[in-house]
Amino acid sequence: MAKVTLGNTGITAQKNAFGALPIQRISGEAAVKFLRKAYQGGIQFFDTARAYTDSEEKLGEAFEGIREKIYIATKTGSTDVEGFWRDLHTSLKNLRTGYVDLYQFHNPDTCPKPGDGSGLYEAMLEAREKGMVRHIGITNHRLHVANEAVESGLYETLQFPFSYLATEKDIELVKKCADAGMGFIAMKALSGGLITNSAAAYAFLAQYDNVLPIWGIQRESELDEFLSYIDAPPAMTEELSAIIAHDREELLGDFCRGCGYCMPCPAGIEINNCARMSLLIRRSPSAAHLTPQAQEKMKKIENCLHCGRCKSKCPYGLDTPALLEKNYRDYCEILKGKPY
Ligand code: SF4
Ligand code: SF4
Repeated sequence: MAKVTLGNTGITAQKNAFGALPIQRISGEAAVKFLRKAYQGGIQFFDTARAYTDSEEKLGEAFEGIREKIYIATKTGSTDVEGFWRDLHTSLKNLRTGYVDLYQFHNPDTCPKPGDGSGLYEAMLEAREKGMVRHIGITNHRLHVANEAVESGLYETLQFPFSYLATEKDIELVKKCADAGMGFIAMKALSGGLITNSAAAYAFLAQYDNVLPIWGIQRESELDEFLSYIDAPPAMTEELSAIIAHDREELLGDFCRGCGYCMPCPAGIEINNCARMSLLIRRSPSAAHLTPQAQEKMKKIENCLHCGRCKSKCPYGLDTPALLEKNYRDYCEILKGKPY
């Protein structure tokens, strides 16, 4: 049974946290049942966001009466003080609680700081003084903003993508957080669905004591798998190392993580799936990606305006329009019968 303490926050939880983004896609009743099963199975830390539509409400319903037994983290993507308070009040109401354990700025373009003119960090401090927020965190997909947050000394936790596809710079960031007494919450530990071996994903993260992975869980079978890791955490074996080495070779470099930060696209292209279609077809059940509806979505790539908006917003520095074209070429060849 492995536990993680998030930096100096005093929050210690099972090294298996629940990412509540996917529960938006299931009914309220199913989500509540699912969340309670997760709790009963030992998961203690639940991460949601104001932006995840009804995810907070589902958590609120599931955990009414046992609030003190779990940790809840949520996020605001607001860029102004008025929106900050509006989000916080809405989150508390939805979550049916008077406080959140961790309140995070949700992937801001720049790291909020006192005196930067936005008033956001000051609002965060005020929320903490009022007891509405116990700890202050930040989430990000951009390495430079994440590094700035760590160096600022203003944040108690950082949430950042971290999986066995991590680069040396990502690993350095994890170490920097440990040195700074900051908690590190790993998002996208399955890299948006491209990593399909959860035991390998877990075993990689188990090597970092200060990392708390949040798994975006939607299916009961996935939940059962992660709950089984509470009693029997997978350790690194030669077999898992070989899987990781193989995936790193296949996936490292310029691949789309499916985060969607480059959207919306004025030509209506579903970039977060279309720009990684070649990988999705080969690494997950392919039928769903070859339906007439999926083909229609891919065809929209022909209408790309080459406006460059997506490219300028991609936190991984990808040449998104070129990646879309490459994936579309491959897709058309597959439709014509190319083996994959
Ligand atoms: S470059 Fe193409 S894909 Fe990117 S935002 Fe513009 S129209 Fe959409
Ligand atoms: S192109 Fe970049 S921003 Fe867009 S979904 Fe892929 S990784 Fe995310």
